[in-house]
Amino acid sequence: MGERYNITLFEKKSALGLGHLSYRVSKEDGGHKIDIPPRVINATHYQHLFELIGETGLTTYKVRQQPSFSFKDGQTYLAFKTYNLFNSSVSLPNFSPVTLRWLLSHGLELKRWFSFIRSVSTQELSVDVHRQKSKTLSEYLRAKGYSDEFVFGFLFPMWSLMCTCDYPHVENFPIVPIIELFRDFTGSASTRRILGGSEALENKVRTRIKDAHFEVGVEQLRQSGDKIIVCSELGEQEFDHVIIATEPTHAKKLAAAVYPVEHDLIDKIPTYDTHMVMHRDSALMPKNHASWAPVNMFWDPVENKSSATLWMNQLEAHNDLQNSIFQSWDPIVEPDESLVLARRTFRRSLASTKSEKATKELRERMTTMGDRRLWFAGSYVSAGIPLLENGVHSAKIVCARILEQLNPA
Ligand SMILES: Cc1cc2nc3c(=O)[nH]c(=O)nc-3n(C[C@H](O)[C@H](O)[C@H](O)COP(=O)(O)OP(=O)(O)OC[C@H]3O[C@@H](n4cnc5c(N)ncnc54)[C@H](O)[C@@H]3O)c2cc1C
Repeated sequence: MGERYNITLFEKKSALGLGHLSYRVSKEDGGHKIDIPPRVINATHYQHLFELIGETGLTTYKVRQQPSFSFKDGQTYLAFKTYNLFNSSVSLPNFSPVTLRWLLSHGLELKRWFSFIRSVSTQELSVDVHRQKSKTLSEYLRAKGYSDEFVFGFLFPMWSLMCTCDYPHVENFPIVPIIELFRDFTGSASTRRILGGSEALENKVRTRIKDAHFEVGVEQLRQSGDKIIVCSELGEQEFDHVIIATEPTHAKKLAAAVYPVEHDLIDKIPTYDTHMVMHRDSALMPKNHASWAPVNMFWDPVENKSSATLWMNQLEAHNDLQNSIFQSWDPIVEPDESLVLARRTFRRSLASTKSEKATKELRERMTTMGDRRLWFAGSYVSAGIPLLENGVHSAKIVCARILEQLNPA
């Protein structure tokens, strides 16, 4: 769209969304910028994002998504080994003495779970979920005969990390897409990251924007005839079309004056504040160094919550990091403050059965309302679990609709 029309961007922060919270490591460690958080993607789940990456000429590289699972005290109870072969990937339990006990108790459940998610179709899953009449994800899994230790010590840590939210919010996700997300993230497509990180993608996307205003938040929107007026510290500027691509908490406020129905729909999107800490404290890793994995989950069965520590040396493309660098998501054990490099907080969109209905209506309104001037894009707008893919997908749909309006057949 940027090739045919003039695009103006207003961004409240000092840089484009994705990478604005990255951290530059010391010269000794190569002086690279490391994304916080290090977002990962795969070709099965991220078809629209991969298309965009292809269009920009960027490339991706494989990472081993191999996870380990430990209790809060760092004692590991389960570990996997990932084999990346050509374009596919397979993760198998590591049959070490450490994990044998867990596998003896839960190995059959593990096998049953993977054959279930690999063989069930979306339609069969929807019918089954409907038949079980389960309100929450764990109710459904219990009804299917999975033990609490398997659900909360294996499945929920994975979902909590994929969706970066706590167990109560994982519980509320619509059951079909959350199970499909698990399948896509543990399937045969290798886990990848963008070479050059978020910055590389941002630099490419930015070339399509004519005027980019950073540190300029939009304060208010109004409609005047067939124009939308954007009010910011730069004054009032009018545009033919405006896309609100902010978090839902801001989007609903901006929409209120122009489209109150959309405000009420967006109001139903749950959001969650989550924290990442970049540090050098190996006390947040498994006690046994042999169990260290690129992704290390920690489960506290008493409080029934989990967190994860990512071993960045295993996830970055460049291999000149001299010292261990970790990123911990919502750590259940705090790192030593003297070893902390950076702390970041994010507000992210989630989904629930209620929000699933609301976003469906939002999408329908954007499709059916003729001569529309104000649009919504972002990870919460398209169906499924709000991730990068949903953001890109929603933006593509909105751009196609605007182009249709600008160039009627
Ligand atoms: C810790 C963490 C890890 C994640 N890891 C992954 C991952 O591995 N893979 C994945 O697919 N997804 C991941 N996600 C999710 C992914 O980052 C989000 O889904 C995605 O960033 C949402 O994109 P968005 O464009 O909808 O909104 P955002 O990225 O939130 O962008 C909204 C932008 O709007 C700006 N803004 C807000 N109000 C205004 C205003 N009034 N005026 C101007 N600008 C404004 C904000 O500054 C912000 O830059 C992760 C999220 C978190 C929090």
